[in-house]
Amino acid sequence: MLVAINKDRQILNLLDIDRLKIKDLKAQQFSCPACKGQVYLKHGSVRAPHFAHVSTGTCQYASEHESYQHLSLKKALYHWFSETETVQVEQFLQKIQQRPDLLINASIAVEIQCSSLSVKRLRERTNSYHRNGYTVLWLMGEALWLGDYLSELKQHFLYFSESAGFYYWELDLKAKQIRLNYLIHQDLTGKLHYLVKTFAFGSDKLLDVLRTPFKGVSKSLKVQLSQDISHYIARQLYYKHPKWLKVQEIYYRNGQNLLNLGNLSNVIFPVGLNRLTYQFEGLNLPDYCQLTQDVRSYYHHFISYHQTKPCAIVYPPRVYSAFYQPS
Ligand SMILES: [Zn+2]
Repeated sequence: MLVAINKDRQILNLLDIDRLKIKDLKAQQFSCPACKGQVYLKHGSVRAPHFAHVSTGTCQYASEHESYQHLSLKKALYHWFSETETVQVEQFLQKIQQRPDLLINASIAVEIQCSSLSVKRLRERTNSYHRNGYTVLWLMGEALWLGDYLSELKQHFLYFSESAGFYYWELDLKAKQIRLNYLIHQDLTGKLHYLVKTFAFGSDKLLDVLRTPFKGVSKSLKVQLSQDISHYIARQLYYKHPKWLKVQEIYYRNGQNLLNLGNLSNVIFPVGLNRLTYQFEGLNLPDYCQLTQDVRSYYHHFISYHQTKPCAIVYPPRVYSAFYQPS
């Protein structure tokens, strides 16, 4: 962590102190703003200077062993935000017992997530921010970049807007970039398809960058799928993949054959939409924990629109809404 309380009961933020002066603090005593336990200044040659608890494992609010990546990203975003906003680092929020990496204008919690956590914990933390009127933005470090497939954890970092569809933030320390992955769709094999917009650190006002999904970012996403889907499904069934056995069972029950889907080679669909089974079971809405909107009408519009038009080109939700708006 980067913040501690000194013996004069003042809060000390290492990001605001000249690097040369930090060394002089080494002999002093500090305490943790959250648990009040004793912490000391670590000032080695590898990681950036930071505070660590004297007795580890006693503080439930601290993310100990913060990686070089985490500390460096926190520092970079702190300075970038500070150009235009009021920023607090690791501000302990007594009421909700949480300590966001950065708190912007006392209302937006920014969490730089560089390592895995349980879905249960993520849901608790997200819900407690929401219940108490905070917006929370999870920005993902390298280990949690979106990649080609959605893991169970990653789906709970997905956000949604009418202009960007489902989207996901990534931080890249080496390239000094923040990336917006948006219009996130999936094909029947589970592979993801999306667009990427990149912002260099310091390029624009960071708050404006983070508002990009609510402005007109997106055009359309065009996908050329090469994989033979029927062949793929046949193979999954042969290997008795539980997910596909379940889908097959639903098709049988409705007197249909999963392997006679017709030409599905160009089908992609928004993440969370149960494309293969909704006609029998209706829509199951995803319970992604960052999702605060009802995406039902988006899914409905998407399905209706692409009933007759192939999904090789897909659009932001607002395009479908406009199409189905009674004039
Ligand atoms: Zn502590």
